[in-house]
Amino acid sequence: MNNYHTHTCRCGHASGTDREYVEKAVAEGFSVFGFSDHSPWPYEDFRSRIRMDASELDSYIGSISELKREFSGSIDLRIGLECEYFPGYISWLRDIIAEKDLDYVILGNHFMRDERTGIYAGSITEAKDMYDYLDTSIKALETGLYAYFAHPDLVFTSVGEFDDVCRDVSLRICEASKALGIPLEYNLLGERKRSAGMFRGLGYPCHEFWEIVREEEADVIIGLDAHSPDHVEMAFMQEEAGRLKAEGYRIVEGI
Ligand SMILES: [Zn+2]
Ligand SMILES: [Zn+2]
Repeated sequence: MNNYHTHTCRCGHASGTDREYVEKAVAEGFSVFGFSDHSPWPYEDFRSRIRMDASELDSYIGSISELKREFSGSIDLRIGLECEYFPGYISWLRDIIAEKDLDYVILGNHFMRDERTGIYAGSITEAKDMYDYLDTSIKALETGLYAYFAHPDLVFTSVGEFDDVCRDVSLRICEASKALGIPLEYNLLGERKRSAGMFRGLGYPCHEFWEIVREEEADVIIGLDAHSPDHVEMAFMQEEAGRLKAEGYRIVEGI
């Protein structure tokens, strides 16, 4: 199996060296393994605590590029980023993707419009914020920049009950995914968090959301969202992929 969702310690909330992730991925038998650390943004007066600084981007790319060469006989490493959709910085992102020759970027709509003022998607409980999440997600997907939509159901993390608004938002995410041909990610870090009892609300993967994805027959990709080399587990991915396929989901492997 392939995984395109891996972080590095540069984001400040992941552990392990780049090499440790790669060695684990090789040992586990991954054929394609992509790094998609939290994207920096060219902030002038703000230091995010959940992502690398823009000045670290070259060393991130350089480090993975070196490992890519070193391990080219045993694994196909890809270099990407997990990015929000911040309209003010989209042209910067577009330039970076071209200039640094990134293999791909994925959408992680953690904050809407602006990290400094935007609400964290995982804390949303009100309908107007859910629709804002939907709106920014669709605008992001329509840019054509993002290879897939990471944990699209992050928006339901803190919600207590899956109501008509949640249903409507889910359906429209599926419709956009299908119309644009962009897979939705079934996020295995969320599975780990749920097992650890870390969600007070519905959490993610959100069962009701995924029922709609199945009914709508949107494409699904499984992502480890590894924040530690320990998260790089082929057996876990295969088990989840097997279960989802048996339940009728349209699983895609590549991007
Ligand atoms: Zn993270
Ligand atoms: Zn991630």
